[in-house]
Amino acid sequence: MRYLILTDIHANLEGLETCLNDAGVRGYDEILVLGDIVGYGPDPNAVIDRVRDLNPLAIVRGNHDKVALGLNQAEGFHAAAKAAAHWMLDTLTADNRAWLVALPMGPRLIGDTLEICHGAPFDEDAYIFDELDARHAFDAATAPICFYGHTHFPVAFRLTGDSLDIIGPSGNGETTLPVAGDAKYLVNPGSVGQPRDGDPRAAYAIYDVNEQRVDLIRIPYALEITQAKMHRAGLPEPLARRLTLGR
Ligand code: ZN
Repeated sequence: MRYLILTDIHANLEGLETCLNDAGVRGYDEILVLGDIVGYGPDPNAVIDRVRDLNPLAIVRGNHDKVALGLNQAEGFHAAAKAAAHWMLDTLTADNRAWLVALPMGPRLIGDTLEICHGAPFDEDAYIFDELDARHAFDAATAPICFYGHTHFPVAFRLTGDSLDIIGPSGNGETTLPVAGDAKYLVNPGSVGQPRDGDPRAAYAIYDVNEQRVDLIRIPYALEITQAKMHRAGLPEPLARRLTLGR
């Protein structure tokens, strides 16, 4: 079994299509989506339509998807994100908004060895940034490997006994994480549609269960097309600029 894992797509159709093409060449069996399908980007309806067509095995909602429940969900957002949330609510079709509203909260167990969530297994909106957050998440996790998103930062934490390692991205576009049976893992594939680790390339992961490895993959996409759409839509300029910076 090979899982394609996508998170934080953020209405970025070019980023999504590029990841899907690349993953299609590598091969996968099932898709898992860890939330924030919309928010920030210019193509909420096209991205939702595409994700629905893909028929993922499981999806959990992200904090930006929850804006479909009402704009009060965007209260903690910074000004640009809030403006984009307003725009999204005006732009979503009724059918796509209803689909977002129906997305389940994480965490969700897939079989008995794999768990997915948006933020953390103990709270869908919490961020896992550092070792303390990771230890809290390991305490709450119910499967040996848990995939999460929300920070837009590709990284893996490995817990072997009481010893915790942080495995960062290699920078060259691909990091292979061997999955050992005696350890527990928290893995963030990084963001498809709005990377924040200083690398503007789209990020996603493939988990090969039989080969016991996770590939963390980076791939360049036509972000200037996404940015032109954002300008045309009147979305805040800093949201377009950050795609170039990957921050
Ligand atoms: Zn996000």
